[in-house]
Amino acid sequence: MRTLGDNTDDMPSSVKPPRGRDVQINGPISVVDTACPLDCPDACSLAVSVQNGKVLTIDGSKRNPVTDGFICAKVRKFDQRVYGPDRILSPGIRKGRKGDGRFETVTWDAAMARIVEKMEAAKTKWGAESILPYSYGGSNGLLTQNTLDATLWRRYGTSRLARTVCAAPTGAANMGLYGKMPAVVYEDYPDAKLIILWGVNPNASGIHLIPYVREAQSRGATLVVIDPRSTQLARAADVHLAVKPGTDVVVALALHRYLFANGLADTAFLDEHATHVDALRERAEPWTFARAAEVAGVDAAQLEQVARLYAESSPALVRCGWGLERNRNGGSAAAAILALPAVGGKFGVRGGGYSMSNSASWGITPSWIGADEPETRLVNMNHLGRALLEYTDPPVQMLFVYNCNPAATVPDQRRIIEGLQRDDLFTVVFEQVMTDTAMYADVILPATTFLENYDFAKSYGNISLELVRPVIEPYGEARPNADVFGELCTRLGLLHDDEPAGELDLMLKVIEGLPPQVTDAIREDRVPAPPFGTRPIQFVDVFPNTPDGKIDLCPVDLDASAAAGLYAYQPDPGTEQYPLALISPASEKTISSTLGELPGADTKLLMHPDDAAVRGLEDNDGVRVFNALGEVHCTLSVQPTIRPGTVSLAKGLWRRSMRNGQTGTALVPDTLTDIGGGACFNDARVQVASLPSA
Ligand code: SF4
Repeated sequence: MRTLGDNTDDMPSSVKPPRGRDVQINGPISVVDTACPLDCPDACSLAVSVQNGKVLTIDGSKRNPVTDGFICAKVRKFDQRVYGPDRILSPGIRKGRKGDGRFETVTWDAAMARIVEKMEAAKTKWGAESILPYSYGGSNGLLTQNTLDATLWRRYGTSRLARTVCAAPTGAANMGLYGKMPAVVYEDYPDAKLIILWGVNPNASGIHLIPYVREAQSRGATLVVIDPRSTQLARAADVHLAVKPGTDVVVALALHRYLFANGLADTAFLDEHATHVDALRERAEPWTFARAAEVAGVDAAQLEQVARLYAESSPALVRCGWGLERNRNGGSAAAAILALPAVGGKFGVRGGGYSMSNSASWGITPSWIGADEPETRLVNMNHLGRALLEYTDPPVQMLFVYNCNPAATVPDQRRIIEGLQRDDLFTVVFEQVMTDTAMYADVILPATTFLENYDFAKSYGNISLELVRPVIEPYGEARPNADVFGELCTRLGLLHDDEPAGELDLMLKVIEGLPPQVTDAIREDRVPAPPFGTRPIQFVDVFPNTPDGKIDLCPVDLDASAAAGLYAYQPDPGTEQYPLALISPASEKTISSTLGELPGADTKLLMHPDDAAVRGLEDNDGVRVFNALGEVHCTLSVQPTIRPGTVSLAKGLWRRSMRNGQTGTALVPDTLTDIGGGACFNDARVQVASLPSA
């Protein structure tokens, strides 16, 4: 196995890292081109300045025109994570109680030997399915997930993980209706005459969309924002529909009903390009403006205004975000929204159609995974608490966490913590910093950040793909994912001689396995472009990737998997005891929970003045937010920027940031979305009361 810093002679010169620098006091400053692979739609190109082997500044570059030289404040301060006090610098074995976060430093060899010993013991006693690998998009590039880790788990026969905490319902809808057809890119927004931003807040995630929306507005486009909160863009919009969480599906169905009922549906287009049109029309039929408005808590006239604007405008563009999926109706909502441009006849022009995830647009299949997926037990990641406490066939005896922080981010926090405290559970956490989850580890392993390893940053907002280069040596004893999973594979005898077992070999294999136009561009140090162009027009340059090439407006499998059928509205779960809908939108401070260790987290509960008044609460009061699952103590922010009946606490908060060590996920049930098995974060229903002063 080779590791970073070894011979790189056989690497294309364009991808070689800037190694071998002379370290000197006040040495020269070099600027390294790289890219951001974190879980954000934008995948920015970066220019990182380095002096004496240390990161000085992180900034945007103009290599990617969408980045255009600027990046978010989050990644500008990423060096604070790299060099911060929470960084895990060496492997460690727990000393003290689980949750204390105290570890005895050990060598990599000792840590790896212990993990292998525990894996073999679990497999012998309980079977390999008693091992649960647990990961998500903390390092969201092509190399740091689903590579040698997948080879390890598949060949060893562990339980599989359904990675559903985000984008599962929208992904299922997009796949079912369109086969994940490439979506409208940022650069084409200025061509739109109407833009609907639905369940998305680019100020918090995906800031590079904002200049294009502003440009469209300056050219006269109408902007509609659908969001329970009055976000910055909502305040700049022509129409803001502040819908109740979980009701987006009926709003979209009311728009469909209007189009069908008034002869505004594009029947010629539907006849040629769509199936199951009648099923959608019939299910939209009951949703008059009056009924949908009552359910969604909006003004019927305003709803009709949006419908008219959509029918009359071209190009018209719907940006379907992820905020609308996080509830019991989330998959149906996404499907109904994605169906709008088909029914309204909005495809075929630049700036018209829909925009959502472009993650599948490159058509990359990970040919570098060394094994087919086995038929082992599939565990929904949103059921981690249940899995740790209730599964018996076999029980989860070993948990291996990487690229994520479930103690902070996954529903039903109380039961997850209870599970992590089990004496008979062996937990490995392979992480960059001491997260809430790492505190409960039996073995911790230090991971590199994207400034220390290779990766590929693949945009899912736009359609870009860039090489991520290490700009500094791994800090402390941190190692890249591929090296660690490659070594575990080797120790367990799972690799063939000709297979990559470390980062550099894997890097070369992945480059070979990418589509030829990507491989060629990377070798020639160009930014690759997809074969259909970087700005495809839907139904001109790209078409549905469904089996028959048509839009399926009510896919049979989705319809069957939704308990009440696709497009069914399941009522609000609120009760008299817990009447307030708690939402947990993306924050401007963290990327999911990444960077949550840094000071300045936005920990206040946002509440409308009317809701505060009836509870006798005032701005900056200490409050209890509670339901039957848990209780969160925090400070109240009373603002009219959220609809009455809904309260908001940022996503990605760490337990240590909160007054009582519980975050919003402690209040979230582990129920699943109607399709896709997604998390129902926005189905948390709570009560809020004053926190007695200590
Ligand atoms: S998090 Fe998003 S906006 Fe920030 S640098 Fe990364 S890709 Fe760009």
